[in-house]
Amino acid sequence: VIEQGQAEKSVVTTCAYCGVGCAFEAEVKGNEVVRMVPYKDGQANRGHSCVKGRFAWGYATHPDRIKSPMIRASIDEPWREVSWEEAISHAASEFRRIQAEHGRGAVGGLTSSRCTNEETYLVQKLIRAGFGNNNVDTCARVCHSPTGYGLGQTYGTSAGTQTFDSVQYADVVMVIGANPTDGHPVFGSRLKRRLRQGAKLIVIDPRAIDLVRSPHIAAAHHLKLRPGTNVAVINALAHVIVTEGLVDEAFVAERCDAESFAMWRAFVADPANSPEALEATTGVPVAELRGAARLYATGRSDGTAADLANRRPNGAIYYGLGVTEHSQGSTMVMGIANLAMATGNIGREGVGVNPLRGQNNVQGSCDMGSFPHELPGYRHVSDPLTRALFGEAWGVDIDPEPGLRITNMLEAALDGSFKGLYCQGEDIVQSDPNTQHVEAALREMECVVVQDIFLNETAKFAHVLLPGASFLEKDGTFTNAERRISRVRKVMPPLAGKADWEVTVDLARALGYPMDYAHPSEIMDEIARLTPTFAGVSYERLEELGSIQWPCNAAQPEGTPTMHVAGFVRGKGRFMPTRYVATEEKVNARYPLILTTGRILSQYNVGAQTRRTPNNLWHAEDRLEIHPQDAEERGIHDGDWVGISSRAGETVLRATLTGRVQPGVVYTTFHFPESGANVITTDNSDWATNCPEYKVTAVQVVPVSKP
Ligand code: SF4
Repeated sequence: VIEQGQAEKSVVTTCAYCGVGCAFEAEVKGNEVVRMVPYKDGQANRGHSCVKGRFAWGYATHPDRIKSPMIRASIDEPWREVSWEEAISHAASEFRRIQAEHGRGAVGGLTSSRCTNEETYLVQKLIRAGFGNNNVDTCARVCHSPTGYGLGQTYGTSAGTQTFDSVQYADVVMVIGANPTDGHPVFGSRLKRRLRQGAKLIVIDPRAIDLVRSPHIAAAHHLKLRPGTNVAVINALAHVIVTEGLVDEAFVAERCDAESFAMWRAFVADPANSPEALEATTGVPVAELRGAARLYATGRSDGTAADLANRRPNGAIYYGLGVTEHSQGSTMVMGIANLAMATGNIGREGVGVNPLRGQNNVQGSCDMGSFPHELPGYRHVSDPLTRALFGEAWGVDIDPEPGLRITNMLEAALDGSFKGLYCQGEDIVQSDPNTQHVEAALREMECVVVQDIFLNETAKFAHVLLPGASFLEKDGTFTNAERRISRVRKVMPPLAGKADWEVTVDLARALGYPMDYAHPSEIMDEIARLTPTFAGVSYERLEELGSIQWPCNAAQPEGTPTMHVAGFVRGKGRFMPTRYVATEEKVNARYPLILTTGRILSQYNVGAQTRRTPNNLWHAEDRLEIHPQDAEERGIHDGDWVGISSRAGETVLRATLTGRVQPGVVYTTFHFPESGANVITTDNSDWATNCPEYKVTAVQVVPVSKP
């Protein structure tokens, strides 16, 4: 705490929006924040911020905040304010009744990527030890679960390989399915600075993101692929690298599994994976595919093996949800990992494979064991030693069977075998695909407990509402996209009297599974005792070092800025097969356009926070971007209302005519519940992880009168 200026004090804490994890000084007068100042010593942001972190914190004291627990017997009845004791006791007795009547597996829970590591850890502990099953999932299911699978299979761990600072040493940057200047603005600025200094840029995206349009940056290659053909593009790039002698043979021989590499080399070398063979599928011209592959591997769009004689350039890959939210999301992540290994772009500054994580603590929620098959530290529940470790520490027997994913929970609710959900800080009605399906499943449940700061869309289907606490009202830690664990510090008391971790502790006690922590630091101590990658993390060490990038243990006592330096986490890097399979979501005469989705700078995800701040002045509605040619064919003018229909549902938006999207593709953001972006997305999902295929929905667009 620093005494300063007209504010009475300032407290250094971490932004609760995106995965950059900027540090701020929250200037406080009384119990109110008066200003958020980017913290100059913040190791992720170095004194910078964006319009979200700097200005959009007023939601924390917005009149819509829920300040009292509430219950109701059915979702058709009005809410009744009750005491914390009554709400928690009611929730616990309902969960126990359901388990007695329908079995131990009839209940489950969702952790929140907006809550702290400590809170996430406690929720999955409550599910596993209190409910006695592994029915726990997290919003990473619908964003970066393919990253977990793909990087786990190839490198051995699910995390970005670099620090944000590393981009300063990149010669070539490949941005795939990400829009850093809107989604991760402080990193986006750092990337632009490096590009202005001369680093070359390759963008793989069906839409012209701002990096492509910036007057000061020339993207050497913008591969405007047809949505859903990512894997075909990555295979074409790999084909060029393999067939033109651009593989880093020494790196592969020393660091990678020989058998898997031989398999991969033969596969991508097949003429069926050549740019010429895949041009029609991807919509990307052969010259662009060949030029991009050569640039990534050699630093020149016309580079050859001879250019690699003296020095290999540093090629860095940054990717986002345009990679993961596909039916082949996991395959594409593995394709990216293969490409980086084949060119030796792993294990030093300026290179790497970097998923740009969307939410402030989505990396942390995954690290903390929020998946139904993994305990904290990505250890599978089927492993007897792992179960014994946690079982002994928690005083229970851990179920050896993986639990239900959120998609399975919803299906099970519809078939009558899943009846109770504890949902902390996630609005699945607005954020999950096919809203009608989610709502129907929630309606079938007998006890839905929502813990949130606002009465969100999911709360409409809840029986118990437990007020959440904003990031300003609690202590804890967030982990950003660089694996950087940073402190969240309490700036003001919780508006409803309890931080989220305290509510989970109370709920566990009411369930008959006592938890006992005086402070979140004690929860972190438990995490460190049970999780080797966190072994050296404590609040004392965080005070001393400012932040810590995991793994942090005896081998890496100060943390690990760059992963896989001497060897991959799994030992030898493993090349994985990446056969392209076209999505089931086909355009036809009825649905001739492809809808894809994304974010805008001033809003954040479902908008529950930013919509309640002056950020609405910048972006007050979601609009549909449509190419002028498609608009003209339909008689649509700029600003017109249009109806959008898909196989899942229909909604209405206003149209923006723009050349940013290519003919045949339309695009919208998803920050406003009334725009219903997920009313039209479908149930298609990634083959390995069930991550929804948000990025490819076949739609029709027609003019309509104002709704
Ligand atoms: Fe930083 Fe992201 Fe917060 Fe913006 S939203 S201030 S980039 S953490």
